[in-house]
Amino acid sequence: MTYLSLTGSDTRMDSRNSVLVNPLPQRCERCHFPDIDFVPQPYRLIDARTKNPNDLAPAELGNFLVRQRAKDVLEIVIPGQCAFYPTVLRKTGEQSSWFLAVPNGWIDTGQAKADIERCSACGEPKSAHWGSQYDYSQTLAPVSGDAEIFKAAHWSSSVREWSKDWTEQDWIYRHLLISPRLYHLLKQLKLKGLVEATCGSETKPTSADQQWIAKKRALLIEQGRRTEPPSESKRSSLATIYSGQASNRPAPPRSYLEFVTAHGPKSYFHVDEQEGFTVQLLEPSDLDYVHYRRGVLRSEDEETNEIDGVMFAETLHGDCLCFDFSGDVTEPSVVIYLHEMNYFEPYAANFTECLQRLEGVGSSETSERSRINKTL
Ligand SMILES: [Zn+2]
Repeated sequence: MTYLSLTGSDTRMDSRNSVLVNPLPQRCERCHFPDIDFVPQPYRLIDARTKNPNDLAPAELGNFLVRQRAKDVLEIVIPGQCAFYPTVLRKTGEQSSWFLAVPNGWIDTGQAKADIERCSACGEPKSAHWGSQYDYSQTLAPVSGDAEIFKAAHWSSSVREWSKDWTEQDWIYRHLLISPRLYHLLKQLKLKGLVEATCGSETKPTSADQQWIAKKRALLIEQGRRTEPPSESKRSSLATIYSGQASNRPAPPRSYLEFVTAHGPKSYFHVDEQEGFTVQLLEPSDLDYVHYRRGVLRSEDEETNEIDGVMFAETLHGDCLCFDFSGDVTEPSVVIYLHEMNYFEPYAANFTECLQRLEGVGSSETSERSRINKTL
């Protein structure tokens, strides 16, 4: 199995110039080596840096930071593989929107060379410079567990003597590693902020990885999780224009409201008898009144530019279904947005006919589940 090393912004929320915001207790009285597995509580972050718009961010010592959406996804796709801790703003003590994620899995990335002197009390090397004093592991074998995300079992640093109190010279580093399939799943879900550390091109997912990713995305939809980022992150200027104007929010058709109220945000699998074509209806509060409205898409297709779309269902592969309010506003027709072409195609005359198409022959949740189970 291959694992990728993750990196991200050097503007860490939990350290400034390598000085940890949350000091660690000492683990060894003789060499003053810190307890690098300890998670100080409450875990404090530098206030201004928490404004980072991403959902993921690097943290010190092989941990990372996640916003709620990323936490929700990780708890569903890799349950139990990370422990999450709430964080607070350093100055005010208020709860921040980030959680510290601590991988439970450890991986062997190598360790300080055998000829580096060890502390007689705790056995830690006196120094472990990543460049010159390290023996790298060739195998990247998991030390514990069979996980998708790991912290390095060993640390590196150029420090030769640990001070009693953490100082600027005392930087210490642990790698954070991830499987290519989890990496690409997060990428597809547009959970940004951690990238593969590489000098060349990004590691590509294999076809087995793709299958795993598709299965996890189906699982997210089953659990009622949206697989697209919340709409306000995109094209914010247009969002501002539309969100402030109630008159720009046409009322969804009664047939849709009644159906969703009765059945919830239902998912449909194997739609149009197409393998992997999964559609999830959105709740009325999640309707997207911004990104598919007339004039927003700037398509090369003239008819698309005339459509006044409100998204009410999304698919696993990035396309979505919209009501088109440019015509009949009480029973709007349904169009499908094809994201790769950036245009709309007609899908159904109205919501009722759209439902019939989604519910088509041989496509129920049960048959999809049994199909997934068969391929396991
Ligand atoms: Zn020691």
